[in-house]
Amino acid sequence: MPAFFELVAPIDGVVIPLQEVPDPVFAEGTLGPGVALDPLGDTLHAPCHGRIIQCARTRHAITLRDEQDCEWLLHLGLDTVELNGEGIELLISHDDEVHTGDPLCRFDVDYLARHARALITPMILTAPVGWALELLPAPGDIVRQGEPLFRLVLSEEAPPGAAPSSTPGQTSTRTVTVALEHGLHARPAARLRRIASQHQVTLTLATDDHPPIDSASLSGLLNMGILCGTDVTLTAAGYQASTALDAAVHLLGQPDTTLEQEAPAEADHAVSADTPAAGQYTGLPASPGLIIGPLVTLSPALPNVPERGDTPDRERAALDKAIRQARDSLARAMTTASQAGRQEEADVFEAHRAWLDDPTLLAAAHRHIDDGFGGGEAWRRALDAEAATLAASLNPLLAGRVNDLRDLQQQVMQHFATSAPSQAPLPPGAILISHDMTPSAFAAIAQSLGGLCLAAGGTTSHVSIMARARGLPCIVACGEALLQARGERACLDAEAGILESTPTPERLEALERQLSAQQDARERIARHAHQPATTRDGHTVQVAANIGSAEEAALAAAHGADGIGLFRSELLFLERDAAPSAPEQQTVYTTVVQAMEGAPVIIRTLDIGADKQLPYLTLPETPNPALGIRGVRLWAHEPELLDQQLDALLLAARDTRPPHGPPALRIMVPMISDVAEFMTIKTRLAERAGALEIDALPELGAMIEVPSAALSPGLARAADFLSIGTNDLAQYTLAMDRESPALAARMDVLHPAVLRLIKLCIEGAHGNCPVGVCGASASDPLAAAVLVALGIDELSVEPARIGTIKDGLRQLNVSGLAALLPDLLTMDSAEAIRQTVSAHLATTKTTSSREALE
Ligand code: PEP
Ligand code: MG
Repeated sequence: MPAFFELVAPIDGVVIPLQEVPDPVFAEGTLGPGVALDPLGDTLHAPCHGRIIQCARTRHAITLRDEQDCEWLLHLGLDTVELNGEGIELLISHDDEVHTGDPLCRFDVDYLARHARALITPMILTAPVGWALELLPAPGDIVRQGEPLFRLVLSEEAPPGAAPSSTPGQTSTRTVTVALEHGLHARPAARLRRIASQHQVTLTLATDDHPPIDSASLSGLLNMGILCGTDVTLTAAGYQASTALDAAVHLLGQPDTTLEQEAPAEADHAVSADTPAAGQYTGLPASPGLIIGPLVTLSPALPNVPERGDTPDRERAALDKAIRQARDSLARAMTTASQAGRQEEADVFEAHRAWLDDPTLLAAAHRHIDDGFGGGEAWRRALDAEAATLAASLNPLLAGRVNDLRDLQQQVMQHFATSAPSQAPLPPGAILISHDMTPSAFAAIAQSLGGLCLAAGGTTSHVSIMARARGLPCIVACGEALLQARGERACLDAEAGILESTPTPERLEALERQLSAQQDARERIARHAHQPATTRDGHTVQVAANIGSAEEAALAAAHGADGIGLFRSELLFLERDAAPSAPEQQTVYTTVVQAMEGAPVIIRTLDIGADKQLPYLTLPETPNPALGIRGVRLWAHEPELLDQQLDALLLAARDTRPPHGPPALRIMVPMISDVAEFMTIKTRLAERAGALEIDALPELGAMIEVPSAALSPGLARAADFLSIGTNDLAQYTLAMDRESPALAARMDVLHPAVLRLIKLCIEGAHGNCPVGVCGASASDPLAAAVLVALGIDELSVEPARIGTIKDGLRQLNVSGLAALLPDLLTMDSAEAIRQTVSAHLATTKTTSSREALE
């Protein structure tokens, strides 16, 4: 027997690691090791020479035994057993000998794409153990049928063919009538095999027509042809025989739905839902709300180019030149990226360059030129067609590449541009789909949006913050598959983090009823939004607003904010070519204070760095910008810029100061790490006030975003107030990048370590100054309740959340929840804390908010 041998790809397709297959039976390796291909063809071929040892009655699964006695399962698509063979034609029969590359089955791609859960085709080594599989192409690569796919190396630890040891212990037998709708197909067969190995038993199945077959042999089980209604005798040998039989009887005696329920929790919360189920896309809730509307994909605005061209020769020459220029600029970008060590970025540019060199694309564009179109228009048409083909492939990985193609389309077309790009107007109430979005792009279209779904992004990113401010339903981190979603009347449930692209009429009807009930609740909440948030046990909490512009201050006042808890002043500095002048800033700060009519307004000094960069400010290169110059640390680097801001704040505070009393405008400094740092700013504020001859100094507060600040009780003595920025505090405590979609689900302020820091901070401030929270957690009703129980005086939330947070607080009994804190703080996870608090709130909420208020 050779020490290694190779197998070839059975079909053209995109290589997908098994663990990414959205079916736990394959992803968890229950059936064995292997890989999956997302097919780009319509025929499965033999990956090696061998004999067909099993063909499913439903034609969707074939097992082949190769010359080394390895058994290979080719499973066409996912859940294709449900098609009962429809759309699949077998080209071989049981026991046929096949040679590498022989066609095994042909399928109707359109039919399967529409009727099966996915076309992803796993290829699994089901027996025997003892071979190590080495995947030859990289995940995400496209392999062609017949190209090398695997190398199998003989592993020394468990040689194939090793005789199974006999199983000691008792033997039990039971009979069950199979209730699985499609009989014993690959997935329940794999479960049986797992039951046997989990309980360390030998498990055999026999029927009236078939002698006992060991569940270790997948092909043996499948060849039994067990249908729904067949009586099966199960025999288990081993110490846990009885428990194993219980599990096996339960599995075979229930309809298939129980298989789905066994899927791991991660599959339910598909943060990167690569293959969504039936038009459903899941993401992280970034701004709650429910909306029904047309789905629209945001593509980069294309330059306006002349439609008709000069002579074909001239247009071809112009197109060739534009492509050359785009290629040169990609080469430069590639060099810069690889010199800076950003290899992944360089690889993307490399792939773009390969696309530019694609002769089929160029030939298509040339054909359009021959038809009389200009070079730019011809390129647009050629790439539109290519993008449509990719999108129609229903292949999530290829769909992700549509964006790349759009990029190239734009880059070449801009050489023909006659005027600035134009973006097609959005239909009213559109649910917009995009890979990601800049804050300025969001601000430009937010007015006409109904909802937003991003493939990337995090719940604390600026677009999420801006969406919450507007009460615009938004989900993020949905994964690239989102970019394929299409639908005339889609439904975005941003509370649950689900986009349904094509809900059924019945579902739409139910959603409309839900929307109308929510509208009633919103109206009720809005009627009470201007009243104070006093808990059931008489504790009043300030509910202020987080804003980023003067326009949002008006919104905050209209929504019943008790003040402004955080004005992110850096938003005034973003997306422009130069910093706003001091008078320009002063006007904005004054407008904000005036809009709040005497209520306190906390304006934060510039928080630039890390996720917020200014094009006109060159900060020193730092390997990890989140740990470099940002927030207050900027002061040493850009003293004039920050002095200018202090002056604008001092003047606005003086001009808006009420006749009797301190200024309503307060100043807050971000990213403070210790007392000395805070004192430098306090001294600087006094110096600037002296220079401007202002004697009534505004209150000065410190943000608690760095764990060292939370552990510095001296800050509460030096500052007039503290405000906890839980977005950054959680980021730095948990060492999890707040921008990382992969970590977004774990960045929870209710993590016990973060809560303990908050508790220490509040205890340190006790008797010295008030403490608020202005991070996103304040907008989360459950987290808000815990924060108030810990002793927080003020919650600052997005304007659209004020009414809801006040409503929740009015139903809260603070002392009841506070009594639970010692237990909560000793728990091990945020999930455990969430569950306990949620159960506590549900049982103690004896009066509904309506009864409490009316
Ligand atoms: C925070 O970190 O919680 C905060 C409010 O500041 P920002 O989100 O602007 O960094
Ligand atoms: Mg912060």
